[in-house]
Amino acid sequence: MEHQYLSLPESLFETSAVGDFRGEIPLPDITMTPDVYHFARPVRYDLFITNTGGALLVTGTVSAAAETSCARCLDPVTLDMDAEVEAYYLIPGKDEPITEDEEIEYDQLVEGKKIDLTELCQASLALAFPYITLCSDDCKGLCPQCGKNLNHETCDCAVEEADDSTNPFAVLKDLKFD
Ligand SMILES: [Zn+2]
Ligand SMILES: [Zn+2]
Repeated sequence: MEHQYLSLPESLFETSAVGDFRGEIPLPDITMTPDVYHFARPVRYDLFITNTGGALLVTGTVSAAAETSCARCLDPVTLDMDAEVEAYYLIPGKDEPITEDEEIEYDQLVEGKKIDLTELCQASLALAFPYITLCSDDCKGLCPQCGKNLNHETCDCAVEEADDSTNPFAVLKDLKFD
């Protein structure tokens, strides 16, 4: 899938200039091992850009429906996401802005006047994915023995699991202490 770019108007390169930019782009899958997030629908971006002198500050949101699978039962899950955007692009030919904030990392504009929207949307969404994706908070997961999805069906394995013969600590109860 080709990257999508936002061509910035010349007027935005005046210090203190601002601009709103909205639209939709298709987004390739994002892999965050072991999860893969798929975007069946285009993602929406809503950006506000401020020229701070040496850089363009980009804030706003990226909205997306990310499809992946539940970490416990592997059923498909769709996450409705509104990810925050915060990025700084250096303006070519200007000195790097002096800032107290050492956390700021600057990105480069493409050909000096374009923002790589694909990269910006992916980076913003990547920060917003949950640590673990579950179909529901009380997902019962798969049976570790027979592999059945315990949200949809039951199995008899749970009973066997409680059987002392499979419990490595079962022998302890037969130990006699004088
Ligand atoms: Zn699940
Ligand atoms: Zn089972």
